[in-house]
Amino acid sequence: MDNRGNTFIGGRWVGATGSQLITVLDPSTEACIATVQESSDQDVDAAVAAATAALPVLRRMPVTDRAALLLRFAEELERRSDRLAVAVSQEMGMPLKLCVDHQVTSAVETVRSTVRALVETQFSERIGHSTVYRDPVGVVAAITPWNYPLLQTVSKVAPALAAGCPVVLKPSEMAPLDAFLLAEAVAAAEWPAGALNLVMGTGPDVGEYLVRHPGIAHVSLTGSTRAGRRVSQLASSSIKRVSLELGGKSPAVVLADGDLAAAVRHTVHSVMVNSGQTCTALTRLLVPFQSMPDVEDLAVEAMAGYRVGPASDPSSDVGPLANANQRHNVNEHLERAPIDGARIVWSYPVADLPDRGFFVPPTLYGVSDHRIAVAREEIFGPVLVVIPYVDEDDAVEIANGTDYGLAATVWSGDEERAHAVARRIDAGTVDLNGAPFNALAPFGGHRQSGRGRELGVHGITEFTELTSVQHTIDTSHDTSRETELPA
Ligand code: NAD
Repeated sequence: MDNRGNTFIGGRWVGATGSQLITVLDPSTEACIATVQESSDQDVDAAVAAATAALPVLRRMPVTDRAALLLRFAEELERRSDRLAVAVSQEMGMPLKLCVDHQVTSAVETVRSTVRALVETQFSERIGHSTVYRDPVGVVAAITPWNYPLLQTVSKVAPALAAGCPVVLKPSEMAPLDAFLLAEAVAAAEWPAGALNLVMGTGPDVGEYLVRHPGIAHVSLTGSTRAGRRVSQLASSSIKRVSLELGGKSPAVVLADGDLAAAVRHTVHSVMVNSGQTCTALTRLLVPFQSMPDVEDLAVEAMAGYRVGPASDPSSDVGPLANANQRHNVNEHLERAPIDGARIVWSYPVADLPDRGFFVPPTLYGVSDHRIAVAREEIFGPVLVVIPYVDEDDAVEIANGTDYGLAATVWSGDEERAHAVARRIDAGTVDLNGAPFNALAPFGGHRQSGRGRELGVHGITEFTELTSVQHTIDTSHDTSRETELPA
């Protein structure tokens, strides 16, 4: 058993002084694998004070030095790849064989792509007789979830540091172990003391105390829409800036001339990988009415090809859900869906699920009314709903018919046609024909999927504040870009 009593504050490992012990369970076995000492209010105060002390240091640091430190951070994470993969697999249940690629390499690449974006970021520009500066916003509170714990954390920490903002990180209480290794990597990369500070605890106590803290300038949360709403309310009392990366119920829209087999394979994969606990999972497959039978056959064949099992078993493709709450939520949806009129097309044999662990059977539904809960609410489990549409207008209306707007895909033999439909979909990211992820393009949600953007230049400028300095003479002819922040 791993007992963690320390957190990382002001460049040192110090004892946490909260009264509660957080218990970390292995979702594959339900056994306790670690305890983590919660941070007290005083620990959070110390973390914010250390970050505040680091702010002028980071603000003055040339961009090129911040880029070099970020590259070292990426190297130090990479050096810890195996340990990070084991930590993430144990704390949230993704099969170990998938963790290096899906959880660690993706995080390392996100740090490296942040460096590429940093080089492109314009920290000052001339507009008429003004010089407009992008200054670091101040101390950032990063509050992160359990589903891709390392990736979600670096998606905040790397751009905040790139912008010159020190960070106080509160990782998910459900999956806190990788954050210790991340702090180790920041220290090994020799970021100045206080650039990253770690506090531990649950959302309602440590999370809310941090959000309310007067020393925090910007709160960046990835999590549920419920938590986003609460954090927005708390932050508004002191007019803090807030970025929210929240839930989704993303559609895959297959047009009549789309490649059905490729679309189904891609969509099923997005729902099965990480047991459906991916914010951008394409959980609604929208297909022409007449294609329903073919699509259902293809989807059954694809889903049945995934083996569900414990995270440590090399033959497992799909692990358990990450925690008991999540299993409860998904099971509630599975019970309710047929009552609401969803037709079960296929379900993983329950007898083949492991006896212990937070497992649920991956399930495929056919749905004619897209307004029922299973077709409208985020489930965050391996559950796919196929919905028929009559024409393109109907497809677009169904695609936009939830409270969310995080991601979507559009499939067509004619990419221009797919593009035209994509422009009618109200979502932050729309992929055409299974196009690969672009870590330099802005990522974030419309409507209740959130506010603000991560990744690329937009992810960095999210953590900056504009200052306009007016000159007495017009310098608008000088459009030179400055790559260093003003001292
Ligand atoms: P959650 O909202 O329960 O917790 C997320 C984080 O917020 C945790 O660190 C938690 O402690 C903290 N938190 C919760 N309530 C809080 C409060 N009142 N004040 C301050 N902090 C609080 O979410 P989760 O269950 O960990 O993650 C799953 C959710 O995250 C899903 O809805 C998923 O869609 C969403 N998600 C979104 C993205 C994205 O980029 N849009 C990425 C991953 C996950």
